[in-house]
Amino acid sequence: MGKTNKSNRREFIGRLATIGGVLGLSPFTINRMLGSELTEFEGSQKLELEAEKAQATMVSTWNHGLIANKVGFEALAKGGSALDMIEAAARIVEKDAEGLSVGLGGLPDRDGIVTLDACCMDHLGRAGSVAALQDIMYPLSVARKVMEETPHVMLVGEGAKMFALEQGFESVNLLTEKAHEAWQKWKVKNEYKPVINIENHDTIGILALDHEGRLSGGCTTSGVSFKMHGRVGDSPIIGAGLFVDGNVGAATATGLGEAVMRTVGSFLVVELMRGGMSPQDACETAVKRIIDSMDVTDLQVGYLALDKHGNHGAHAIHGGFNYALTTEKSSELINASNG
Ligand code: ASP
Repeated sequence: MGKTNKSNRREFIGRLATIGGVLGLSPFTINRMLGSELTEFEGSQKLELEAEKAQATMVSTWNHGLIANKVGFEALAKGGSALDMIEAAARIVEKDAEGLSVGLGGLPDRDGIVTLDACCMDHLGRAGSVAALQDIMYPLSVARKVMEETPHVMLVGEGAKMFALEQGFESVNLLTEKAHEAWQKWKVKNEYKPVINIENHDTIGILALDHEGRLSGGCTTSGVSFKMHGRVGDSPIIGAGLFVDGNVGAATATGLGEAVMRTVGSFLVVELMRGGMSPQDACETAVKRIIDSMDVTDLQVGYLALDKHGNHGAHAIHGGFNYALTTEKSSELINASNG
C-alpha cells in the first residue's frame, strides 16, 4: 500500500475510534467494528488486548462494601455497565436505615439536619455531583442524573433538591430515631469537634471495572457527623473524594474530607498511577502527602484505588481502614495497610 493510503487509513481509524469514544463504545467494541484494520492502529490494538483480559472487579470502602459489591455484581449480571454497578451498590447502602454515615439514617449536622453528599464519574470522564442535599434518599442516583441530564457537574442544597424532585425522586425524612437519639446525646456535650477517628466515618467509596474494561466510581455519604450546617466534605468533590480516568485508573477517599480536599487526594492517586505507580504505591504516596503536610494525630484518611487492568491498592494514615474486594470468583474484606 502506498504511503498516502496508509496515512489516510490511519486517520480514518483514528477518527472512528474518537467517534466511538464519544458514543460511549468501549475500545473493545470499537476494535471489533474496525476488524482487521486494527493491525495498523497500534493504540487501539493495545487497548483491545487489555480489554479482552478485563475481569470485572469491584472495590468498596468499609464493611458495607461487601453487600455493596454483591449488589453491584448483580447489576453486572443483568447486563449493567460499571456505572450501573456503582449506582446499584450505592443504593443498597443509602437505603439502609441502620447505617449512620450514608443516606437514610445518616447522622445529622449539629443543627439536627441530615445533609448528603455524593458523586459519580465514568470511564469517559463524565461526572455528576450533589452536595448538602436534604430529604432525598438516593443522592448518588441524583448525581448520576446531574451527569446525564444536565450540562453541569455539581448541584448543591436547595437547587439539588429541586432538581431531584423534578426528576421524580421522593421527598423523605432521612432522620431516623436512632440518628436523632445520637444527636440528642451529642448535644448534651455540644462539643464542636469535626475530627475523624476510626469510629465515626464510614463513607462508601466504590470503584468498578466491567467486562468491557470500563471503569467507573462513586462516593456517597452524610459527611462528618454533627458538622456545621452547610459544611461539604471531599466526597462530592471530583478530584478529592473520587476521580476516574478510564485510561489509567480510579481512586476514592474516606476520612476527614478537609485533609483530602487540601491535597486533592483522589486526583493525586490517579495521576501517580498515570506516572507508572501501582495503585498500592499511589495510595501510600498520597497518604504520605497528608502526613507530611499536617498534624495527623487526630485525623484519619484512607485511599482506595483500582487501575484499568483490575489491580487494586489501599492505604490509610492509621489502622482500622478496611475495604471489600469482589470479582466473579470471590469476595473478601481486606484490612488496608497504614502509616
Ligand atoms: N470523607 C467524609 C467527609 O469528610 C467523611 C467520611 O469519610 O466518612 O465528609
